[in-house]
Amino acid sequence: MKIKEKFEQKRPVISFEIFPPKHGAALQDIDETLGILSECKPDFISVTFGAGGSSNHNRTIELAKKIKQEYHIDPLVHLTCLTYNKEEIDEFSKVLLENGLENVLALRGDENPSAVPKEDFCHAFELTTYLRQKGDFCIGGACYPECHPQSPNRVMDITYLKEKVDAGDEFLISQLFFENSMFYSFVENCKIAGIKVPISPGIMPVINKAQIERMVTLCGASLPERFQKILNKFEDNKQALFDAGMAYAVSQIIDLLANDVDGIHLYTMNNPIVARKICEEIKNIIKKC
Ligand code: FAD
Repeated sequence: MKIKEKFEQKRPVISFEIFPPKHGAALQDIDETLGILSECKPDFISVTFGAGGSSNHNRTIELAKKIKQEYHIDPLVHLTCLTYNKEEIDEFSKVLLENGLENVLALRGDENPSAVPKEDFCHAFELTTYLRQKGDFCIGGACYPECHPQSPNRVMDITYLKEKVDAGDEFLISQLFFENSMFYSFVENCKIAGIKVPISPGIMPVINKAQIERMVTLCGASLPERFQKILNKFEDNKQALFDAGMAYAVSQIIDLLANDVDGIHLYTMNNPIVARKICEEIKNIIKKC
């Protein structure tokens, strides 16, 4: 089923993000995670593509097939374009269509010293435009409540986002953030700019200080003082940090749901315990949304 239809039928749309197991690890290694994630009955599961400089591309498609065929959940395949030419994207889209993988998150991809950009695609909107001609895909895009780190300013960031939506993005998934008020003003600014597609907020439960510092450096999300205090206070105690990080993420999600967001996209980091605990905490709240 196309993800845009899910947003049309129900709100909030709940989704999880996972990444393919690293090279050398068997695809089956993700079965335990997928088993637990599927018990939470998400509306879709998204699979990253070469994120963090990995070249696990075929595994993205294999994993998406597995999610669809074995777990009967709709997958969303991330696809980046900066380091691919049109022939390579043609090949990817052919495989996606052959396997009934109709939902694609069209991305530029991170700049990565080990992969040389090719010249066919410089920005995600060009991939969206290209994929539109290739088949009946449902295409989504990424957005940045705190502005993409390479954007000159917020106004230009939203101008370019509108260009992506005009090119054919039918829903947006946000970068992770820790301060909901930033997301609300971002959504407001999108509306003012005429962006009308659903925007699902991305939430990452923090259970490990090193992990979050790495992510924040990579994506530019800011850490609010009250959250920084939690990290500082509990960083030396694994269980305390886990509990505090989960409580913070749950309170963020409840506030978002109370404010009628279009969805919740959970960056699971392949940790099924985190996803299960969050689902458990919010299951009654979701029923009331
Ligand atoms: P774009 O929309 O192309 O934007 C990139 C930059 O270019 C921005 O600064 C934008 O303002 C600017 N820009 C856009 N259009 C124009 C224009 N016409 N002229 C000038 N400037 C312009 N990375 C991976 O490698 N694999 C993944 O699986 C992955 N999944 C992600 C999932 C989500 C939900 C998010 C939020 C990010 C993900 N990323 C992933 C990271 C993403 O690839 C990077 O953030 C990347 O730097 C930008 O990708 P984009 O698709 O947003 O690019």
